[in-house]
Amino acid sequence: MSSRRLRAAVAVGALFAAAIAAPAAGAAFTPGSAGAGDPYFPLAGNGGYNVTNYSLRLSYEPASNQLAGTAVISARATQGLSRFDLDLRGFTIRRLLVNGSAAAFARDGQELIVTPPAGIRAGASFTVTIDYAGTPSVVRDPDESIEGWVPTDDGAFVVGEPQGSPAWYPVNDTPRDKATFDFSVTVPEGLTVMANGVLVSRGTAGGKTTWVWRESDPMAPYLATATLGRFDLTESRLADGTPVYVAVDPQLAKGQVLSKLPEMIEFYSSIYGAYPFDAAGAIVDSAKIVGYSLETQTKPVFDRPPDEATLAHEQSHMWYGDSVTLSRWPDMWLHEGFATWSEWIWSEHQGNKSAHQWFAGYYNTPAQQTWFWTPPPGDPGSPADLFDGTIYVRGAMTLQALRETVGDDDFFTTLRRWTTEHAGGTVATPQFVALAEQVSGMELDHFFDV
Ligand SMILES: [Zn+2]
Repeated sequence: MSSRRLRAAVAVGALFAAAIAAPAAGAAFTPGSAGAGDPYFPLAGNGGYNVTNYSLRLSYEPASNQLAGTAVISARATQGLSRFDLDLRGFTIRRLLVNGSAAAFARDGQELIVTPPAGIRAGASFTVTIDYAGTPSVVRDPDESIEGWVPTDDGAFVVGEPQGSPAWYPVNDTPRDKATFDFSVTVPEGLTVMANGVLVSRGTAGGKTTWVWRESDPMAPYLATATLGRFDLTESRLADGTPVYVAVDPQLAKGQVLSKLPEMIEFYSSIYGAYPFDAAGAIVDSAKIVGYSLETQTKPVFDRPPDEATLAHEQSHMWYGDSVTLSRWPDMWLHEGFATWSEWIWSEHQGNKSAHQWFAGYYNTPAQQTWFWTPPPGDPGSPADLFDGTIYVRGAMTLQALRETVGDDDFFTTLRRWTTEHAGGTVATPQFVALAEQVSGMELDHFFDV
């Protein structure tokens, strides 16, 4: 972490120097910042533009673990840009164009620094075309977990939370910059590529199969996947026609849990509001080395067959995490507390242990067991504690306590308004507190502090 902080400080210094050096009049073009200002991952994301669409045309050879392709990034400048950064880890860049013209670029860690041949006016749309090739990387997080492009025995398990996306594509890697995605991924015939959104086409020629997927809803970059390998893929539809793609590694027993997926989506739709995306599903791989599941948008990915609670947890993230997304990583409880509480309400709905019983069981944890009570869910304190159990369980307890304070009517109204008013957007904790206070008419500052 120290080198990241150091480099961020240098970048900010350079920005100030540029601002000071620029003449007062006509300083139309300045560099976009190297980071998006997240307290935990200061260099993740970049400043000066917003991405509208990523088009990733990739090919992958599992035998040699080589990924090659072209990314076309459509963006809009939010300031006059003399240069701007993308995030990309490793790879050789063979060609880089801005609006079709060759652009200069430099590499500095995960920063890909692009200097277009001419400044980009504030408000202008522009495209960046990047041909790149090489070995995708596996990123190790401050909490020692791994992510990025993780090779498996028959392909790759592809997950990006919180900082793995630059391991496989050039990106503005901040959850605040959502975009639509097109994926076209070519792999050896016999392998299946599972990316986000709707399957547009698949075609085989010369021993290779190209899978084309389209995510037409805004997506935070860390929720992108292109998990691939041998899969049994089944396609069905929800009652409203939404396509459901379930891919299971044939090495694994199918189990009965996945058959509950449509019922789970229907239940959460009934309490949280309409399902937010135009595709649904699940990807069940054999990748225990990863050690966790992730709510990749429209199709959560599992490193092993999920149990019912895990399946419910990841599906509920489609509302809390994917559609309504944190804008700063320290607000992780807005994802994990809500998804954990969603496990409890699913259990209650199934006639099993109620959310109150789940809450009460944890509430009896003695204060001396600090591993349970700290850090507080609204403030993990460091990126190494971002995925601590307390963020999940005490986050869920906060919601159940809110439910028991304001009553079911106001509580469920608050949840539904939260998902509908912020659908496709990004949020912060004070907005949730304000909404809960507005709906209930109660002053809840003290409640949330406790
Ligand atoms: Zn989760």
